[in-house]
Amino acid sequence: MTAICVYCASSTKIDPGYLDLATEVGTELAGRGYTLVTGGGSLSMMGAVTRAARSGGAHTVGVIPRHLMTVEIADLDSDELVVVDTMRLRKAEMDERADAFLTLPGGIGTLEEFFEVWTAGSLGMHAKPVVVLDPDGFYDPLWQWLDHLTRTGFVRPAALDALCRVTTVDAAFAALVPAAGP
Ligand code: AMP
Repeated sequence: MTAICVYCASSTKIDPGYLDLATEVGTELAGRGYTLVTGGGSLSMMGAVTRAARSGGAHTVGVIPRHLMTVEIADLDSDELVVVDTMRLRKAEMDERADAFLTLPGGIGTLEEFFEVWTAGSLGMHAKPVVVLDPDGFYDPLWQWLDHLTRTGFVRPAALDALCRVTTVDAAFAALVPAAGP
């Protein structure tokens, strides 16, 4: 069973349109028969993608550090809720369980997770797709910065090329699972 790890916001102060995006992703993921891996919280986009995926029949896996179970309101309805001791163990468990990684708009936690998995891929430590779904230009300043780093020689063009940036949910899933199918 193909498992997709979704990184996204846990903040409750964001534009509700981003919750709709997370819901659309969860629904589509379930429709395609994939498993969802998340950080195991039930707030904001993380909760929205998980609830939509589960409503559509997807198997959901949440990985949450013990000390965040209250803060992020652990998703006790998860098919599998893996409780770990540290943030590092959380990321490692999420990475191991996933076949591909999808980043949606998010804050520093999302960025940290995204950069770690992208960096690891660009160094040849895994060959799993890393996709960023950005329908409204939320990440434009980041792309500008990464282009600058590439132009000035700090980032290898191949590293940037390994990253897939898309603007639609369909394009995201086509990039996540190129062979198309669960
Ligand atoms: P944010 O994008 O800041 O709203 O955070 C999204 C998720 O990433 C939240 O569940 C955070 O707990 C999680 N997160 C933040 N920092 C880390 C980290 N160093 N390792 C793993 N998860 C993290």
